Amino acid sequence: MAARPVYMDYQAATPADPKVVEAMLPFFSERFGNPHSDEHSTGWDAATAVEAAAADLAAWLGVASEELVFTSGATESNNAALAGLFRHRGRSPLRKRLLISAIEHKSVLGCAEYLERAYGAVVEIVPVDAQGLVDLSWLRTRISEDVLAISVMAVNNEIGTIQPYEQIADIARSCGAAFHCDATQAPCALDLAELTRSVDLLSLSAHKMYGPKGIGLLYVRGGLHLEPLFHGGSQQGGMRPGTVPVPLCVGFAAASKILTAGMQSEHGRLSRLRDTLWSALSAGLQGLVTLNGPPLGSRHPGNLNVRIAGADSEDLIARLQPTISLSSGAACNGGLAEPSQVLRAIGLSRDDARSSLRLSVGRFTTDMEVNCAAAAIVTAVNGARSISFSAV
Ligand code: PMP
Repeated sequence: MAARPVYMDYQAATPADPKVVEAMLPFFSERFGNPHSDEHSTGWDAATAVEAAAADLAAWLGVASEELVFTSGATESNNAALAGLFRHRGRSPLRKRLLISAIEHKSVLGCAEYLERAYGAVVEIVPVDAQGLVDLSWLRTRISEDVLAISVMAVNNEIGTIQPYEQIADIARSCGAAFHCDATQAPCALDLAELTRSVDLLSLSAHKMYGPKGIGLLYVRGGLHLEPLFHGGSQQGGMRPGTVPVPLCVGFAAASKILTAGMQSEHGRLSRLRDTLWSALSAGLQGLVTLNGPPLGSRHPGNLNVRIAGADSEDLIARLQPTISLSSGAACNGGLAEPSQVLRAIGLSRDDARSSLRLSVGRFTTDMEVNCAAAAIVTAVNGARSISFSAV
């Protein structure tokens, strides 16, 4: 059997932790009930499991279970938050403005564009600096009573920038605007309970934190009202009709507990591996490699984003297949010819953005894999350069 690829794309997806899979298994076949079947014990058993999962997730986030809505993932959570808020704003029709950071995920930017087109929202893009940090003074001058919400992600998925969320929250509160935070990339980087204290709406996805794909969460601060995205049954108080996927809820909760238990040591281990990768690339590609985004010590511990002079990232990644799984940016942009909007927003030219690679390490990355990935990238860059030189 062929050796498995070295996986360096933990910000696109994390493998489910074996303990997560173990916790989920009984809920596929033995304890398979519909948690909304409230007339029999099979249903009660499933409902109990969902309630326990919600309680664990709420404890992790430092909120009440009633403030959580299970969704299919962060794309849905982001849409449910922004569209839900905008469509419910009947009581404050003057709040039409949405301030959205320039480096948001497509599911936030795309939803904002839709609200502009279909509902007359006024969307303004919050600029960021070369590290990807939002311009707080821009926000302070633009905030006013007609802003419905500010949406800024906690941790960036391409360059790992960690935003000053407490200051953003203060700015939003100064004018009664809601603060929505896409925290999809935050669980491996931040204390989520601390983050949640600052926000009104928070989106999460289990598959970025060693849980299963297909489930996410939306935290809605008590007292805040949203128009649901979907209409149907009364599940989850009507906020998100549809049968709650019990095994996925159980897996999500198990993932949060594993994360909490190992947070400190995992953080240190990831940053050490990431720093080793950076050192090996810098040594092997002297003068050719530059860091994109914030300094290593102040970003997501597993994130590295580099540009390599003269390289074409797509060509480089193709050369590295099937040995190394790495990316040129967000997986959700796959297939688009445009270079990363995040790298463009922090000031990179199109060519520099096109010569950039995102590498992300995670829980199951080993020292050997880091060395192997660095050596393979150096060889691929040198191979590509020798071809382009001989072509001159
Ligand atoms: N927001 C961010 C920051 C992400 O990284 C992702 C996943 N690429 C999403 C939202 C979308 O998450 P999901 O795949 O769960 O829809």
